[in-house]
Amino acid sequence: MTRLSAITPSGHAHLGNHLGAIRRWATQGRPGDLYFVSDLHAMTVSYNPARLRVLSRELLAVLVAAGIEPDQVFVQSDLARELGALSWILECTCSYGEAARMTQFKQKSEGQGMVRLGLMTYPVLMAADILLQGAAEVPVGDDQAQHVELARSLARRFNQTYGEVFTVPSAVMPPTAARVRDLADPARKMSKSTQDSAGTVFILDDPDLVQRKIKRANTDSLNRVEYRPDEQPGLANLLEILSACTDTRPKDLAEQYASYGAVKAATADAVVEVLRPVRERALELLADPAELDRIRKEGAHRAAERGAHRLSSAMRLAGIGS
Ligand code: ATP
Ligand code: MG
Repeated sequence: MTRLSAITPSGHAHLGNHLGAIRRWATQGRPGDLYFVSDLHAMTVSYNPARLRVLSRELLAVLVAAGIEPDQVFVQSDLARELGALSWILECTCSYGEAARMTQFKQKSEGQGMVRLGLMTYPVLMAADILLQGAAEVPVGDDQAQHVELARSLARRFNQTYGEVFTVPSAVMPPTAARVRDLADPARKMSKSTQDSAGTVFILDDPDLVQRKIKRANTDSLNRVEYRPDEQPGLANLLEILSACTDTRPKDLAEQYASYGAVKAATADAVVEVLRPVRERALELLADPAELDRIRKEGAHRAAERGAHRLSSAMRLAGIGS
């Protein structure tokens, strides 16, 4: 049973992405699971093309460096032709109302100057991502559950209207993982798309920079090392990060340290060690473009092959193609 997960190159991958998603994909994933860099999804808002290309490559390198098998990864735009065709078929299976009422579309389009049509149709492209690969399960957070529900409706509707082609996918809720908060502003989560990088530890940051960012993390003036997320969110975030790195409960960790400085030093060291092998392997891959190209090409080939039969059946049933 294939599970499909994606990560969008909307910025550099960070510690939250690693502890909350990538590390788990690498260690708890199953051999048939698939992971892709969703660069087409990054185009739904204003973006820089040269930067998108660099970030996509970097993210592919990070996924492989984190230990995901190269034969389980691909870059979405390498399937642009297949996905374009399937997306169109699914757009013609989807009603305007269904797409327009997606909560994320309503939220993200609010207050934007030019709302790209792709921002509204991207859940349909996401349905194409899922249905092309025949994924049965899609692990998602709350914000994406509605999109998987749409993919489910479109698969069912297509199957009923034209003929059985698609596996009907289900959203699965991943077990709760660390929710890493921004070090400078613990009120918000660490994000790829945050403009100010002082509170974000990127996977490829060099160890000195990681140390500095963590040592400058925002805490409070209570000077009590306790695990109280509501009263001491900055300190709690550090304890949760240290917990995710050491597999020890935050509450137990709080008892081991006498000062904020000691918590910061231990967290910085632990984070540097957790990221070290990923960073080193990713930098090696990025310095070896031929190897990264080979991984990318093979991934694209396999992903296209996997979907080829489904796409041609869907086209035939929809009355298009030769
Ligand atoms: P963006 O700002 O573009 O939304 P992001 O950093 O939120 O980027 P996503 O691409 O939305 O990253 O999410 C990729 C994966 O990383 C998801 O599985 C998500 O749950 C996980 N993730 C993202 N941010 C964090 C975080 N701060 N802590 C833990 N997990 C996170
Ligand atoms: Mg996000």
